[in-house]
Order: sequence, then C-alpha cells, then structure tokens
Amino acid sequence: MSSSRIIRASKGEIIKMTSALGDPMMDRRLNWPSTALFNTISNNIDGEGLAPSVKRSIELGMEQENHVSFFKTFLSLTHLFSFQVCCSCDSDCSTNANCECLKMARLMNETFGGDLIVHGQPIDNPASDEKKMYWDKPRFVCGPRCTCRKDCSLNAIQNIDMNQTKKFEILRTDGKGFCLYANFDADEGTPIASFNGELVGPGEVKKDMDVHQYSLQVIANDDPFWRVLSKCKSMDKEYKDQLKKAYRSTVFVNPLKKGNFTRMTSHSCDPNMEILRVFQGGVSPADLRVIFVATKAIKAGDELTFNYGDDYVEEHLGTCLCDKCKEERRRSNKRKIEDTTRVLRSQAKKQCT
Ligand SMILES: [Zn+2]
Ligand SMILES: [Zn+2]
Ligand SMILES: [Zn+2]
Repeated sequence: MSSSRIIRASKGEIIKMTSALGDPMMDRRLNWPSTALFNTISNNIDGEGLAPSVKRSIELGMEQENHVSFFKTFLSLTHLFSFQVCCSCDSDCSTNANCECLKMARLMNETFGGDLIVHGQPIDNPASDEKKMYWDKPRFVCGPRCTCRKDCSLNAIQNIDMNQTKKFEILRTDGKGFCLYANFDADEGTPIASFNGELVGPGEVKKDMDVHQYSLQVIANDDPFWRVLSKCKSMDKEYKDQLKKAYRSTVFVNPLKKGNFTRMTSHSCDPNMEILRVFQGGVSPADLRVIFVATKAIKAGDELTFNYGDDYVEEHLGTCLCDKCKEERRRSNKRKIEDTTRVLRSQAKKQCT
C-alpha cells in the first residue's frame, strides 16, 4: 500500500507515554496493548477502501499543488488556474477582500453558520444545541499551499501539529487505561490539536474491531459540502464532479497504525473538547482536517476528553467509565440504598405497629 499512496506522510512529534499501573511487568512497553503503539504523522494520508471519487479528488487537488504556484503567473487563464482554491495573496488574507481563501471561508460561513477562524482568537460556537456543536459547521482557512504571509491570520491552524511534546502527556493508570492530559491552560474555543490518520472507506472500519473503535468519521454522506462547491463557478469541471461524488461517500480517519497522540483521547459524557472540521487551503478530502476545540476552559493537568457519541458508548463501553457517569452511578447507587433503607424502615415500622 505505502508505495501506491497519493499523499506522502509527514512525520509528527512524539508525545511522552507513561504506564503507571504500579505493576513493573505490566508497565513494560513490551506488555502494552498493541493499540498503544503507532507511527506518528502530522497530516492525513490516503488508506484503503476509499471510493474512487475520493482518490481522484485527492489526486486532482495535488495537481493543483504541483502546478498552480509555478504556472499561475504565466497561465492565469488555463484550467490549471481554475483548480485553485488556495490563495495567491502576499498580504494578510483576513483583510484582503480579493483573497480566494477569504471568499471560500465566507461562503462556508454563509452556508453553515459560524465565523472566520483567525489565528490566536477563540473559535466561535454558533450552535445552541450541545451535541455536534462544531461538526456541522466546517470552516475554511489558508493552508501550506497559500502564498500569503507566514503570519497570515487566516492561516489559523498552521501550527496545530507543532510544539506538542511539552504541551501534552499520556498517562496510563489503573482502571482508566491510557489517557491524554494537557500541560497548559486554554480558553474555551481554543483549537487544541488535530486528529490524524489514514483516510479509509467504511469497509475498512467494519473489518476490524480496533479500527472501528479508534476511527472518526470525517465525511458522512455530506451533501452540504456540495452546496458550497456548486457556488464555485470557476472550478474545473472534472474536479467539481469528483468532489461532488466524494462528499457523498463515507470517509473515516483511522489512526490505529499511523496517527497521532489524539487517538488516546478518552470518551466523556461531560467532555472538554469537540470536533471541528476545517478545510486547510483547499477543498479536497486531503485538505479536510479534524480539529479538537476546547468547549470549556482547560487548566494544566486536566484530562482532555470528547464525546464519542451514544452509539459508541452502547456498543463498546456498555457501562461508561467517564467521571460524570461514575459520579451519576455513585449517586444513583446511593439513592437506591437510601430507597431500600426507607422501604426496610417502613416495613419495620409496620411490623412494630
Ligand atoms: Zn492567507
Ligand atoms: Zn489569501
Ligand atoms: Zn490562502
């Protein structure tokens, strides 16, 4: 597979993992579960089982990368140029009304709600419902292919895969397993990290229980994307047609063999992060990133969690182990005991009278 991949993997930073069960045998790396061992990458790469339209979209998106910046000065009227989404600015894009990226970002905002993501600013949460607060509101930012200034404020997640080693820690403790902890304070709305892995089709996820447990859906038969793309008049016809099909297929990010530390994020019914999808400098599935955003203020030492969804809890956990559910069970057990005590007391009373 690796030789036929369209996207080359970029190496990611390794986050320290410590097993602190207290049993020296169990804590030895040799005895860690296989799901705790993986190669770290800092982008998404194409994997198995993708729909042909997804692969073709990725290829066409890459062609843009290969040609646009080189040819655009000479061939600004060719079809190559019309592939382009990433911008050709030399300024700060968030204030440049002619920026292609800014136009696309605004178009997404108009279509899905939400505001621009600006570097260093908290990301707004436009939804009033607690679930899927960010999921349905994908955003667009500048990416590595844009020609704008290095400090372009619309290039808002360019550092998301950098300087992580000191910021995060993974610790395995008794009864909790491997969990992810923050070594920093962050306000609500802060982008925390990206979820990286292999882009795979639904068949891959059904095949393997571990893949099923660890993967996140990134394209879910998403017609809304198409609504945005159909408004892009200058886009190459083949690219547009392939994207239209691609966003009607299903794609997961599988972090099991190649991924990053965010795969260790535990489920919680009262989480402090949510998933946001961000297009980074392009509209191909390869440009679509899954980003964790803080939904509460985070303090150094806090465990980082998100809600895997009700289906997951039912299917895999049975009994949820998050702190909120543990506390609720403790309370309801206490209530049950109190109720039983009350019943016993009243029965005892009856017997006495
Ligand atoms: Zn820019
Ligand atoms: Zn721009
Ligand atoms: Zn741009």
